[in-house]
Amino acid sequence: MQKNDVVTVKIEDMGSNGEGIGKIDGYTLFIKDSMIGDLVEARIMKAKKNYAYARLLNVLTPSEYRVEHPACKVVRSCGGCQIQEMEYGRQLRFKEDKVRENLIRIGGISKEVLSKVMEPILGMEEPFAYRNKAQFPIGTDRNGKIVAGFYAGRTHSIIPNMKCALGVEVNERILRCVIEFMEEFKISAYQEEEHRGLVRHVLIRYGFRTKEIMVCLVLNGGGIPHGDVLAERLCAIEGMTSVTYSMNRDRTNVIMGKEIRLLWGQTYITDWIGDVKYRISPLSFFQVNPVQTEKLYGLALQYAQLTGEETVWDLYCGIGTISLFLAKKAKQVFGVEVVPQAVLDARNNAKINGIRNVEFFEGKAEEVLPEFGRRYEEEHEGMKYHADVVVVDPPRKGCEEGLLRTIVEMGAEKVVYVSCDPATLARDLKVLCGEGYEVERVRAVDQFPHTVHVETIVSIQRKTS
Ligand code: SAH
Repeated sequence: MQKNDVVTVKIEDMGSNGEGIGKIDGYTLFIKDSMIGDLVEARIMKAKKNYAYARLLNVLTPSEYRVEHPACKVVRSCGGCQIQEMEYGRQLRFKEDKVRENLIRIGGISKEVLSKVMEPILGMEEPFAYRNKAQFPIGTDRNGKIVAGFYAGRTHSIIPNMKCALGVEVNERILRCVIEFMEEFKISAYQEEEHRGLVRHVLIRYGFRTKEIMVCLVLNGGGIPHGDVLAERLCAIEGMTSVTYSMNRDRTNVIMGKEIRLLWGQTYITDWIGDVKYRISPLSFFQVNPVQTEKLYGLALQYAQLTGEETVWDLYCGIGTISLFLAKKAKQVFGVEVVPQAVLDARNNAKINGIRNVEFFEGKAEEVLPEFGRRYEEEHEGMKYHADVVVVDPPRKGCEEGLLRTIVEMGAEKVVYVSCDPATLARDLKVLCGEGYEVERVRAVDQFPHTVHVETIVSIQRKTS
């Protein structure tokens, strides 16, 4: 097989990035935008000894899972969604299989055990317009017209699209307002290559419960000319609560600048998850799918089986979302987070909710927890610190093995593991299960419909010896 060869192939599997996989005489083809069940025509782009990447040319016979009219017009060129053209029910199966396969292959958990402890994936009833946050890059098209949209996969060329199907409806109105304003007052869009032009991004956040809206313009400059006019127009949109800008003059992929300046209203919006209120500023981390987050944290609460007597550690706590959610059912919660601003947000969130039985530590979980244990021992004449319940919600790379050892040494009765990467989850579970723990419950949760990402929650229990 060579570059530019055109082949016809039946798609029989899917890779972890959502690409279709087909075989011709044992030679494997990876084809983006094709899906399991399709018969396709594709052009070879990059050929290796045993496999090749090919570009989809035609779907000759569509898969039974193929959606006839995708919700989005730029579904293939935009880098945001990977599997939107696949029926939602089949997307869920794909994600559940991905979790199951990782737990078996990497985690060493047997099929039999898994069939008893794994619950069906928790999907969305309405898998569109779920995102409460969008960051639209601003640029110009070939004719010099200002556009807003999304980056194409793996590049920084902007695919114009103001109507992202995953975002809220008001995004479009806000973007039109900003672009019209820019055209009227001749305000330039950022040109990444030349590092010229003013407006780089528009960040929009929306409080699903409060209906409060935040707009933050990211500028390659110190301010926005006629900003008062823009603010006046934006605040005519119902729910507008915060209009700000952020200065970012660096040549960087990082979207936001470090500082926020107020144009109109206040610098934050408020939203709720369950009965906990959160203050969200342009720079705060906040879960992007509030509907599923509430379900996920509800599960965390169920899985933790708190009676009100426990001390709970929430490691990788971010702005304290899980900590505060669990605090009402626990005696004490300790949160650990490495980003200083997130720790400040967490403390502030505890305060505005009147929650007093939480304490947040700034630092790396793998350093803070053992240090806490050492100090406890010193202060209690050599008595070892015992942890009741430990919740971890690490980034994709998972937990450091040293941290897992500390959790084991502290004799935690239960560990609730929230994971955004089933492979590192499986790796870490293998360590814990080798140290006297057993998997109690497993459930995948779909936080990001139409993408290949999947969240998993697992509870493991210390075996009574
Ligand atoms: N549980 C939170 C956030 C989870 S995201 C929520 O649901 O909102 C993972 C978090 O881990 C991020 O906030 C990141 O800053 C933090 N983090 C990354 N490495 C860390 C480490 N070694 N120790 C503690 N926190 C870490």
